[in-house]
This record gives sequence, C-alpha cells and structure tokens, in this order.
Amino acid sequence: MLDQLSSLRKQFQTELSSTQASKDVEQLKVKYLGKKGPIQDLMQHLRNATPEERPVFGQQINTLKEEISHLCDQALQSFSQAELSKRLGEETIDISLPSRIRYLGRKHPLTKMMDEILQIFISMGFSVQYGPDIDSDYYNYEGLNFPPDHPARDMQDTFYITKDMLLRSHTSNTQLRVMENHKPPIRIVAPGTVYRNETISARSHVFFHQVEGLYIDKGVSFADLFATLDEFCEKLFNAKVETRYRPSYFPFVEPGLELDVACTSCKGKGCRLCKQSGWLEILGAGMVHPEVLKNGGVDPEEYSGFAWGMGIERLAMLRYGMKDIRMFTENDLRFLEQFAQI
Ligand SMILES: [Zn+2]
Repeated sequence: MLDQLSSLRKQFQTELSSTQASKDVEQLKVKYLGKKGPIQDLMQHLRNATPEERPVFGQQINTLKEEISHLCDQALQSFSQAELSKRLGEETIDISLPSRIRYLGRKHPLTKMMDEILQIFISMGFSVQYGPDIDSDYYNYEGLNFPPDHPARDMQDTFYITKDMLLRSHTSNTQLRVMENHKPPIRIVAPGTVYRNETISARSHVFFHQVEGLYIDKGVSFADLFATLDEFCEKLFNAKVETRYRPSYFPFVEPGLELDVACTSCKGKGCRLCKQSGWLEILGAGMVHPEVLKNGGVDPEEYSGFAWGMGIERLAMLRYGMKDIRMFTENDLRFLEQFAQI
C-alpha cells in the first residue's frame, strides 16, 4: 500500500506541474480528492489491512490527502493572482465613453412652497401640528359649525367614505383636535392634503394642499390677526406689500374675511395675473366662532382666537406665474427641473 501511495504522490506532482490555469487545478483537485478519486479508493482498501497496519496506512493516506489539498490551494492562489493581473493588464478604460446621466433628487415646487410658509410661521412662534386625511364629519364639518344643509357638505363636493367618514375637505379639521388636546395659549400651523369632488381643470383639482393656522389666547383680537398675517405676507413676498382685508363668510369664524395683497406682477395697476383688479387673493381668515371654541372645550368668555387657511398650489402658481394646477401632479421632468435652482 505504501508503494501505491508513493506512486500516487508522484503521479499527482507530475499532473500538477503541467497545469496551466486555475481551472486545471480545480479539476485536478476533484480528480484526486473527489468521492470517486484514488484517495477515497485507498480508504476503502484500508478494510483489507491487518489491525496493526490500519492506523499506519490511515495516517499515511491522510498525510497525502492533506498534501494534495495544500498543494492545490497554493497553486490556485498563485494562478488566480496571475490571472487577475493579466486581466487588469488587458483591460483599458475608454474615457471617451459618455457617462450615464444621473438625476439629482430635488424638492417638488409645492414642498418648497410649503416648507417656506411653515418656516415663516415657525419663526413667529407657531408649532406644526398634523390632522388626519380621513376624518369624521364631526371634525371636518359639524364641530366647525357647518349647518347640515351647507352646500360644501354635499356629496357633489365632498368625498364620503361612509355616511360619517370622509376625505377632509380642508385642513381646518385639525382645529378641534388641537383644542381638545392642548390648553390655550395655542399657536399652531397645520399643513396637509385636502380633497374636493371637483372636475379637474387648469384651475381646480380633486386634491391640493393647505396650511391652516390657529391662534387662541386671552385677549386675542383682530389687531393680532392683521399684524400676524401682514408680517407673514411681508416675509413671503420678501418686501413690504400692501394688504387688503375683505369681509367674507366661513361657518367656523365670526367675522370672516379674505386677505388680498397688491398684485406682485403689476404692483396694483392691473394685469392678466390679477385679472385687472390689482389684487391677489391669498387666504381666508377670521376670528374663531364661539361655538367652535366651545366644541373644542375652550371657554369663549375667557379666550378668543383667530384662524386662517391658505392654498399652497395657489400661492405657488402666483409665485411661478403658472396657469395650470395639473402641472404639479403630472410628474413631467421638463417642468420639475425648472425648480432646481429656485
Ligand atoms: Zn396684476
């Protein structure tokens, strides 16, 4: 058996020395050490050896096995190193090949507008709160003093999910939730998406974005409302802008009003942007209705407050001179890329 081992060793060495590449070594390794290889064969023959011979032969076979394995690994390593440096030597980099265009992520114009508005109010001491997109009729309408027959509650205008649950039609649904959970003074802004069952056109969409504001404390008056919103406009338009307040009606405020700013394009002279009026409507506001305060658990005898809401799309369209609200959601890169540097 020792002769057999010795000739096997010689045969292996000869074959190893004639290998040319790592794949030859791999084949050789399988040939000698595999299940059907000569080493395994010798192991089977150990059975025929005498009990005295068995451990000696066993050890000899194992030694050869380890030797073959070790030599193969060594050869493999040197081949693979040589093969790698050969491949690297052959490879060239074609520096004339055009590179793939990578698009950098950037903020959507509506996100930029929203961030800017929130930052202004945060700098004025307001904190940000969020209300749910799916809400009950109570938080969206009933608790906010909307009479049962108010046209906005019509199925034509509101997306109802069930008889009582709906997609909020304004961010004002945050108001009562905040009052229920926070004692005055309350100074919050609530951004979010709102939904209306409208025909999609250049001017209206089934969903858009608003920022709601709410300020409740002792002795809050109209003067605070004017001062706060005037300062907001000044910061938003980065200049002292003329403002105008017009009486308006919203069920959850009393009295209600709308805020216009002098047209940023024609400075009040009249142009297409302001439809020749010289003014741009920016937001709706008013003093919080005493019934709404009561519904939120706030005593209207002790506290008063004001609220406002503004459409982000509208402000962004004014700022960027856009005529079609649908562009915000069409994901057209030609449109979105224009906002890279703004
Ligand atoms: Zn104008």
